[in-house]
Amino acid sequence: RTVYVNGEYLPEDQAKISIFDRGFLMADGVYEVTSVLDGKLIAFDGHAERLTRSMNELDMRAPATTEELLEIHRELVRLNDIKDGLIYLQVTRGSDGDRDFAFPDPETTAPSLVLFTQSKPGLADNPAARDGIRVISIEDIRWGRRDIKTVQLLYPSMGKMMAKKAGVEDAWMVEDGFVTEGTSNNAYIVKDGKIVTRETSSDILHGITRKAVLELAREAQMQVEERNFTIEEAQQADEAFVTSASAFVTPVVEIDGAKVGSGTPGKLAPRLREIYLEEMRKTAI
Ligand code: PMP
Repeated sequence: RTVYVNGEYLPEDQAKISIFDRGFLMADGVYEVTSVLDGKLIAFDGHAERLTRSMNELDMRAPATTEELLEIHRELVRLNDIKDGLIYLQVTRGSDGDRDFAFPDPETTAPSLVLFTQSKPGLADNPAARDGIRVISIEDIRWGRRDIKTVQLLYPSMGKMMAKKAGVEDAWMVEDGFVTEGTSNNAYIVKDGKIVTRETSSDILHGITRKAVLELAREAQMQVEERNFTIEEAQQADEAFVTSASAFVTPVVEIDGAKVGSGTPGKLAPRLREIYLEEMRKTAI
């Protein structure tokens, strides 16, 4: 695999980052994951926009312009011959060669930029989309700025492990009795034809897929309500689903052992997935 590190395209085993990089020492970094379908980038503009916001919120210097980032994404797709897959991008604050809690001077310390591809044949056509996934609920104990897409993924990783141990696919996180989001996706329920999802705030990541899916749902005359919901309400809903850049729209068929609806994917989530994928393929670049 050819990867990108700070201006260079290199074989992955030759790519290097300083051990003093604050991404490594302090999780002082942000990231994006963009899907590739048929060799084209899905929702690139949305990811670039959110990356800029994440960097601004953390007073991080941008390592490249959006146009340059687009060029790097495309070059990696070409070099690695990616048909369906993902592109991972990470920006960290870099290092001034020492460990200090205070941020280094951005004038003299360059941020690090790393990108790599993951080939995922059949990304848009996986068993989870057809059969749905099962989730457990776990307490949301993450920090208070979940709207910034940082590389602090220890708790979401622990959540995935808790799910695995429970024999299911993922976990939904709960704070003050209400669902925040999935470990790596936004969470939704459907009741009487109405789509319910938590409103955006610093409590959740503002999903690029969430934004597009809600817009498309409204265009398709589906009702959307942005408000909090509990696990109990979700268990009694007609349908549940998650969205993310890599899972698109994926039905959730079981929550803490209770079947949602009939325990198989309903009508709305699969329909929304179709609508979403059609629009994304149309607007891919
Ligand atoms: N919430 C969390 C915590 C996530 O990690 C992700 C995926 N990065 C999402 C939501 C979905 O965001 P997006 O649709 O932009 O991939």
